[in-house]
Amino acid sequence: MRVLIVEDNGQFAELVAQHLEQAGIDADWVETTQRAECAVGDRRYAAILLDLGLSDRDGLALLRDLRARGDVTPVLIMSARHGLEDRLRGLQEGADDYLAKPFAIDELIARLNAILRRQAGFGGEALSAGNVLLDTKRRTVSVGDRVLPMRLRETLVLELLMRKLGNVVSRKVLADGIFGVDGERAMNTLDVYVHRLRRQLLDAAASVLIHTVHGVGYMLTESHKDNPAHSKPSDARCA
Ligand code: CA
Repeated sequence: MRVLIVEDNGQFAELVAQHLEQAGIDADWVETTQRAECAVGDRRYAAILLDLGLSDRDGLALLRDLRARGDVTPVLIMSARHGLEDRLRGLQEGADDYLAKPFAIDELIARLNAILRRQAGFGGEALSAGNVLLDTKRRTVSVGDRVLPMRLRETLVLELLMRKLGNVVSRKVLADGIFGVDGERAMNTLDVYVHRLRRQLLDAAASVLIHTVHGVGYMLTESHKDNPAHSKPSDARCA
């Protein structure tokens, strides 16, 4: 899971990113609303942590633009403006929550988790990685606007890999997950499913890769060229 931090105070952003990482959440950090627009154009985030006092535009303007074009990514405002009016305005513009600075990082994590849980409760859980979206309730997989004709077991393999994005999932865990039994046959069939899944994702120009980790299992990663955890998108990414 990855969130976007829009914050012009680098030290604070780094602190938040570190705590998020400890909570198992990756973060990208941008300093301006312009960079934020680039970042959200580039990938789907589980949530956006939004400062309001930014150097180029007000954070609220970004929030308004996102909502105006139907982007429903949860937004948690973290701002030094702490008046009731500011809070109400943020929520009216479509923020999901509002935290006044200074706040305890633990509270930020708790509120973020609450938002994410709420989000998951609405109409099934949507998992995303790169431009791939998996609806766990309807069992549909889409890349961008295109829904892929995927078999149920392929979606199960994909789900397990997406839930452990960036980590190796053992062949046994995958085989158990899709067949409910262990054994040689299941293992061999698993490789066939992974092969098909990989083919479909490739054909659909998905921005994820399934890596084979020999003797261990498989790993899904996002195929962005330069995107380690809490890095700032470079100029080149958004030219
Ligand atoms: Ca600020």
